[in-house]
Amino acid sequence: MTGQSAVFTTSTCGAAAVIEIECKGRSLFMKQSTLDRIIASPRLPSLPSVAVEVLEFTRDDNVDLREAARVIQNDQALATKVLRTVNSSYYGLSRPCSTIQQALVYLGANTVRTLVLGFALVDTMADPSDSNQFDYMDYWRRDLYTAVAARELAAIHQKCDPDEAFLGGLMQDIGMVAMHRVLGSKYVQAIAQTNGDHRKLAKIERDTFEIDHASVGSRIAERWKFPQQFIACIRNHHNSSRVAPDQMHLVRTVELANSIPILLMFKDAEGPRNTLIRHSSEWFDITPKQLQDLLSTVIKAVEQFSSLFRLDIGDAGDVEDLLAEAEVRVVELQTRMERENKELRENNESLSQRTIADALTGVANRMHFDTTLDEQFNSAAASKGCMAVIFCDLDHFKSVNDTHGHQAGDCVLIEIAKRMSDCIGDRGVVARYGGEEFAIILPTADRKTATEIAEQLRKAICAGPVSLNGTSREAEELVVTMSLGVAAYEPALAKIMTKPEQLLKVADQAVYAAKKSGRNCVRTYTNRRAHAQSAA
Ligand code: GH3
Ligand code: MG
Ligand code: MG
Repeated sequence: MTGQSAVFTTSTCGAAAVIEIECKGRSLFMKQSTLDRIIASPRLPSLPSVAVEVLEFTRDDNVDLREAARVIQNDQALATKVLRTVNSSYYGLSRPCSTIQQALVYLGANTVRTLVLGFALVDTMADPSDSNQFDYMDYWRRDLYTAVAARELAAIHQKCDPDEAFLGGLMQDIGMVAMHRVLGSKYVQAIAQTNGDHRKLAKIERDTFEIDHASVGSRIAERWKFPQQFIACIRNHHNSSRVAPDQMHLVRTVELANSIPILLMFKDAEGPRNTLIRHSSEWFDITPKQLQDLLSTVIKAVEQFSSLFRLDIGDAGDVEDLLAEAEVRVVELQTRMERENKELRENNESLSQRTIADALTGVANRMHFDTTLDEQFNSAAASKGCMAVIFCDLDHFKSVNDTHGHQAGDCVLIEIAKRMSDCIGDRGVVARYGGEEFAIILPTADRKTATEIAEQLRKAICAGPVSLNGTSREAEELVVTMSLGVAAYEPALAKIMTKPEQLLKVADQAVYAAKKSGRNCVRTYTNRRAHAQSAA
């Protein structure tokens, strides 16, 4: 980082990031002055005094409800709006509230604070005298949809306060009104360049004015002494990736809610729709079906709120059509996501299959054998149970290679592995231990059972000739035999056998004994003393 760019990194204003990225002394100075010019402008909307007071007394947790009610009731018009809202069907109270104090008790200080601030915000922003060319209808339509959607999303995931989410959504674009009041028609031209797509606005603003509405809005909220989480919402409502962890859920909720008006107002909104569905699922475990239900709830709630807030957000128009279209798309996407998840799962399975399977024979590889052996040995030892290992070594296999060629040898290994797997089934894990040696883990099998299984295996291997299909020796068939060594871990051995390696060692000795006994036979490790003691 150069000395020029480091100067402003401590600034708390939203423009700090822009300044830091650009790193040019002169333009950096201009950027700051653009922001300062807007912030210092007397034309900036100011917060009604009742809102200032409400913010003040709800700052700490011990709100004096009587005092709060008195302050709100001082502004009769505002108190009436709040009461009308809390008594609306949206809040579904079983008993209507006739006073602000009752509303504070029934709904909590947070809900009432949200409503007061929401109404104050609408009053201060919706000044018809400055409406020349600024499309307030579009502005409120988008922000009201976002606010209501944020509230509904928060009610589903319950990771942040629905009232705070509502206010966060309602406030997100206050920077636009401020920029319009100070920059006038130039700002209206900038908005026009977006062709109604709000997502393009911040970049156009930065290109034209070197500052965007998110930075301006967050500075205003700071100045109004709004709680930090709302400032974070305004500053990051287009990108929640840099938000502090304690504000993350709220900001993400508003960011998600931003896609709802896009979905409902634009026919071709595949990108935002996909992002909404993915982020809802990743961030909050919200399913496409829940989102689909949320769309119709939002439409109904927006209708109520726009009349309660006396906001003209235009004719609902073909919202029903768009809703129907959105629902179809959501179903399509849900199907696609399910398919993609299935593919992903299958890929993962085949990947993990590749990492645990032997490349030539498809049975488990040595690594998988070692980890499974550890698990099964420890589990048997801990539960005072049994488990067994069978070591299998093909007899005179070198001569198969020597006589029929290495390719034929491979073919035999594949066929033998198959016969072993078929014989063992789900009774254990068949693994290629190395070369022409295989090993089997039998969870829960004792010495006797393991010996019986080993004998079944031996018979299965030499039951019929192995054909050399697909090799240059296709017509030839050969009979293969195997020597097997069995070793079982049993509670009687607990004292002398404490590690899986000890079990392997005696299984190996048992194979050696089988080879010495003439091959094609099974030998089982027996510790006479321990087994005799346990039998007695
Ligand atoms: P014994 O009965 O004493 O076990 O005799 P053996 O010939 O089976 O044992 P030895 O260890 O002498 O030879 C094993 C042979 O297995 C030698 C090696 O070339 C062959 N082999 C090991 N891995 C593979 C493989 O992947 N493919 C083929 N075709 N042969 C292999
Ligand atoms: Mg060998
Ligand atoms: Mg061998």
